[in-house]
Amino acid sequence: MIEGDGTTSPSLRSWVDVPAGSDFPIQNLPYGVFTRGNEWHLGVAIGESILDLNSAARAGFFDAYAFRDTLLQPALNHVLASGKAAWTALRARVSALLEAGNREIADRGLVDFVLVKQANVVMQMPFVVRNYVDFYSSLEHATNMGKILRPGGEALLPNWRYVPIGYHGRAGTVVVDGTPIARPCGQARPSESAPPSYGPTKALDIELETGFVTGGPTPFGTPLPIASAEDTIFGMVLVNDWSARDIQSWEYQPLGPFLGKSFATSISAWVVSLDALAPFRIDGPSQDPPPLEYLRRPRPFTFDIALAVELRTAAMRRAAEIARSNFKYLYWDMAQQLAHAASNGASVEPGDLYASGTISGPVQGSYGSLMELTWRGARPLKLPSGEERRWLEDGDTVTLRGWCERDGAARIGFGSVSGTISPARCSA
Ligand code: MN
Repeated sequence: MIEGDGTTSPSLRSWVDVPAGSDFPIQNLPYGVFTRGNEWHLGVAIGESILDLNSAARAGFFDAYAFRDTLLQPALNHVLASGKAAWTALRARVSALLEAGNREIADRGLVDFVLVKQANVVMQMPFVVRNYVDFYSSLEHATNMGKILRPGGEALLPNWRYVPIGYHGRAGTVVVDGTPIARPCGQARPSESAPPSYGPTKALDIELETGFVTGGPTPFGTPLPIASAEDTIFGMVLVNDWSARDIQSWEYQPLGPFLGKSFATSISAWVVSLDALAPFRIDGPSQDPPPLEYLRRPRPFTFDIALAVELRTAAMRRAAEIARSNFKYLYWDMAQQLAHAASNGASVEPGDLYASGTISGPVQGSYGSLMELTWRGARPLKLPSGEERRWLEDGDTVTLRGWCERDGAARIGFGSVSGTISPARCSA
C-alpha cells in the first residue's frame, strides 16, 4: 500500500506543461526562493516553471489562509515556523491551484503574473540556515572511514550503534546550488617527519548527503520526544559537504571537524516536503542492539531516494557518473537524529539544517566520497576523458542528483546541486 494524501496521487495532472521525466510533476511541489526584479520570492517548482507564491498571495489566492503573510517573506523560515498543519494546508492549496481543470488563475488572466520560467531566474538560498548539524549515520561510511583512518583498529567505534554521531557545523557558509567553491587553504601535515604547513588543500573531497529542514521552535530546555520529531521535519534537500581531507586529518583530534569542513556546504535550491516523499516511505534497517528508549519508535522509517554523484573536469564535455547510492542505506533515521539532537533540551529552530552524513552503500561504486571511492588516493578514479582523479582539481564540477521512483507512484526528483572548484586564495 502506498502512503500519501491526494496530493501524491499518480493520476493528478497539472494545467502547467510538465515534460516527461521532469523532477517536478504536480505530485512533488518543492519550495524554493528565486530573484524577481530586486526581490526574493518564494516559489514552487512545477515542470520547467515556478509558481510565484509571493505574487499569487498578493493576487489574493491565499486570502483564506492564516499563513498567507508567510508567503511574502524572502525566505522559507516563516513558513517553517507556521507548523505541520499549515504546511499541509499550503501544499493542498498549491496542488489545487495547479491541478488540470482549475481555472482560478487563468480566468483572472494572471498566468503570466504568477508563473515564471526557471530558466529565466536565479535561485537563492531557500531558507536562512539557523543551525547546521552534520550527522555520521551511514554504517558503511563510518566503517570505511574507520578502516582508512585507523588501520588495524576496530573500524566502528563502540558508541556508534548507540549514539547518532554528529557535530555542529557552520550555518553561515551553507550555499545554494551553483555557487563556485574556492579551494580552501589551511594547515596540514602531510608527513609525520616534517612540520605542518599552511597552503591550498591537496585533498579536496565531496560528501554525498541529504539534509532535512525543520520547523519549530521547540521550547528551550525541553527535549523533543521522538514521537513528535517527524512532524517537526518540513522537508529535504541534497547536500554536498565539501571536505579538505588533509586539513581534516591534522585538526580533527580531539574535538572533531573544524576548518576542513566549514569553508562551504552546498544545498539544492528546492526543498522537497515529507508530504511529497510519502509514497516512497519504506521501513528502516533493523538496529542491533536496540536503540535506547528515547530513540525507539514502533517502526523506524526511511525513504527510497536514489542518489548519484557526477564529475566533470574542465576537459570533459559531459559529466561522468562516479557513484550511485541511496538514502535508504542510512542506519539512523531522521526522527532519531532529530530526537537525539534535542534530547539534551537544545531547542529546534525553524530553518535548522540537519545533514545525514555521507551516504555510502555496501559496494565500491556506491561510496559517497572520493576518500572511499579512491581509498584515500590509493585507487585513482579513471574518467572517460582518460584523466585520473584522486581528489578534486581546480575547474572540476561536481553535481549531486536525487530522485524517487516506484510502481504506482509518480516519479519525483530533487533537481541537483552543483559546484565548480575555483583556485585557492590563501593568505600570505
Ligand atoms: Mn559530512
